[in-house]
Amino acid sequence: MFGLMMEMPLSLTGIMHHGERSHARQTIVSVTSTNARHRYTYADCFRRVRRLARVLDRLGTTTDARIATLAWNDYRHLELYYAISCSGRVCHTVNPRLFAEQIAYIINHAEDEWVFVDPQFVAALEPIGERCSKVRGYVVMTDAEHMPVTTLQNVHCYETLLAAEADDYAWPDLDERTASGLCYTSGTTGNPKGVLYSHRSSVIMAYAAALPDACALSAIDGILPIVPMFHVNAWGLPFAGVMVGAKLVFPGPKLGDPATLADLITEEGVTISAGVPTVCLPLLAHTLATQRSLQPLNRLVIGGSACPLSMMEEFRDRHQVRVIHAWGMTEMSPLGTINSQTAATVGLTGAALAEQMCSQGRALPGVELKITDEENRELAWDGKNAGALKVRGLWVCKDYYRPEGGGGARDDEGWFATGDVASIDANGFIRITDRAKDVIKSGGEWISSIDLENTAVGHPAVAEAAVIGVHHPKWQERPLLVVVRTSEAAITKDALLSWFDGKVAKWWIPDDVVFVETLPHTATGKLSKLELRKQFIDYQFPTVHDVT
Ligand code: ADP
Repeated sequence: MFGLMMEMPLSLTGIMHHGERSHARQTIVSVTSTNARHRYTYADCFRRVRRLARVLDRLGTTTDARIATLAWNDYRHLELYYAISCSGRVCHTVNPRLFAEQIAYIINHAEDEWVFVDPQFVAALEPIGERCSKVRGYVVMTDAEHMPVTTLQNVHCYETLLAAEADDYAWPDLDERTASGLCYTSGTTGNPKGVLYSHRSSVIMAYAAALPDACALSAIDGILPIVPMFHVNAWGLPFAGVMVGAKLVFPGPKLGDPATLADLITEEGVTISAGVPTVCLPLLAHTLATQRSLQPLNRLVIGGSACPLSMMEEFRDRHQVRVIHAWGMTEMSPLGTINSQTAATVGLTGAALAEQMCSQGRALPGVELKITDEENRELAWDGKNAGALKVRGLWVCKDYYRPEGGGGARDDEGWFATGDVASIDANGFIRITDRAKDVIKSGGEWISSIDLENTAVGHPAVAEAAVIGVHHPKWQERPLLVVVRTSEAAITKDALLSWFDGKVAKWWIPDDVVFVETLPHTATGKLSKLELRKQFIDYQFPTVHDVT
């Protein structure tokens, strides 16, 4: 017997209508390349979204066209999110920091019909314009006065196109399985792979992200997504934020400028923000150097790579900001787990609290987890066994978009192998040890590069640290610590190595330290271990260390 409840499709159109009707006067603030504080309301935004949908029709885009965006976090990008997806088309967010070759690859692979581009990224597209044969034209996200001169063909001005359209639009009734967005993984191995989100998956994840034990979003929040809108839909905040009717604050091209971020937080009433550790660290350093407060910020979602304990403690102790440590991936839209309290963890202190804070948390409702050994046998949730982490759930990728060479994303039992190694404790808290390909195998035992890196950055003289496994004649592999020092710090190898005493098992302590000026990063701001391993391919340990 079926229930007798209405079966309205889950669609971003529903979120848009709700945002417009119930939160019409809420504010959206954006930094853009020509305006330090653009400001308008949800009502203004969605009026323009209707005009933009008309523009998409007028440009002759097909009904399920993929439309690319190369843009920072701002109100025009938000308008595109809704106009493209709610008109039934697919919003393909392209990471402008990728190499030109990769951008050309993914635009061609997605067969994007039009590209909407911020003025700053026009030059990056010029050398590849001719190769993107399916692209019919470009729309530069600016007004007539700031249109750049370009060699690209068939180029239009965003504001001019919008000004020519009426305010109304007949939104189509969409099946909830309709594709809404497309985002390619960074492709650290092989070509990037396309993850095709649906209206249904995006809406359900927005509900889950807003839950009290997730990001606890509400209409009285000010949300500052530092995580780029070109990376997994800024972790779903542009959907969840509109759904709850929060004030949205977008940093535009100033996303990497801690002074602007701090100004936005204090002047615009930002209560929650989100980003990867590499962007949150400069924000912390800036507040320290300038002795400024981050009031009224009280939550900061950090994920994308492991958040060092020292960073979480500083945000808590210096700014009364709770770091919400989260884990996920492009294939998971991206939220998989979030660290929030349970009855079992409330009141923890000292080492137990530190241990708990380093966990990436528990699965969001809607996501299932398991860990398996090398024979695919499920491992117990005892907080000790580490194994391959597998997931399935309501917003997890089923298959990649037109995968090269075919092949699905799931195993025979329907699970998606994340490529991460993790343990899970009896309360369901996970601890990511490593990416499978980054694990260091010493004498047959695993060493967690993440734990070593986190311990290293806890030292005041260490600005950034990476640990890789290097071939060792006796132990197969041993950890090598590569460190960027804080500007004024003078620290020796030995002093740094003794910092690990008592903090990690003795046999985990790296065999050597190399000081460098910078570490390589991926286009999403993560450490590129692949690149680092290439740099140290000929490295040999100076002495054969005796690990017992
Ligand atoms: P890409 O795969 O394109 O680099 P993703 O954002 O999809 O980008 O990266 C997902 C990966 O990032 C995860 O599989 C995991 O290895 C790592 N990751 C994400 N969040 C965390 C976290 N909180 N702690 C440790 N690793 C993380």
